[in-house]
Amino acid sequence: MSNPALGGTQHEFVDLHTHSTASDGARSPSEVVAAAHAAKLIAFALTDHDTVAGLDPARAAAASLGLRVICGVELSAVEGDLETHILGLHLSELTELEQRLAGLRDMRLNRAQRIVERLNTLGIPVQFDAVLRHAAGGAIGRPHVARALVEAGHAGDFKEAFERFLGNGKPAFVAKDKLSLEEAIALIHRAGGIAVLAHPGQSASRDRITALARIGLDGVEVLHPSHSWDDARKLDALAGELGLVRSGGSDWHGGTDGTRTLGMMRVPSQWLHDQDARVAAARSRRVA
Ligand code: MN
Ligand code: MN
Ligand code: MN
Repeated sequence: MSNPALGGTQHEFVDLHTHSTASDGARSPSEVVAAAHAAKLIAFALTDHDTVAGLDPARAAAASLGLRVICGVELSAVEGDLETHILGLHLSELTELEQRLAGLRDMRLNRAQRIVERLNTLGIPVQFDAVLRHAAGGAIGRPHVARALVEAGHAGDFKEAFERFLGNGKPAFVAKDKLSLEEAIALIHRAGGIAVLAHPGQSASRDRITALARIGLDGVEVLHPSHSWDDARKLDALAGELGLVRSGGSDWHGGTDGTRTLGMMRVPSQWLHDQDARVAAARSRRVA
């Protein structure tokens, strides 16, 4: 799926949105590295949900392959009913971010516990241990509760688990604890990175992206499997107009069922070079 209109003639590709077992992906960080190498990418970003735990193992695995790993994260920012995903890319100072994310993970654990309590109250005897097992040490969330429900036969499939119990407004729904958009962007900047609006598709209007740019957003994800080419073209034009960098990736979670494959978005390496320039400019402003 290459789009010459967006990238020009290109032979080098990157994938700037991937997940590993550090969050809800199916492959370990080193397996994602191996897959990126096999896909002949020159660089990829590991962007696990609310954790940077996969970054060290990924970089260690990539060191001997000549493959560049961009340190990333995908943060969920919440305002009212709206959850917005912000990618932090090119992170270089992880300590404060790690501490804040550890705090959020504690809240996630708390939330999963409250969901299980609510299910038990509803007469569904799902065990918290089963949910923990499905999370396998990663960032725990509703998908893991759903898997436990399906496993114990309380729902026929994942979708039914959400429709009957876990979805917004359903009987076992518990709202997520919040990271605001401002805080997400500021945390990414203090970690030395750039903040990119993830998969805005048709959900983000020109006004919204303009407003986010005013509070420090650096870029938009133009290429994503959920976008139509029309979405991508509009976002590409808007990025140019607002002076934002472009990004893109497969949002690969390690599946092999063919719907999403690593590198599928054919993101031109030029976009990565533009991001590098933006990171360097921000760094020199901080030093000055
Ligand atoms: Mn995910
Ligand atoms: Mn996302
Ligand atoms: Mn993602």
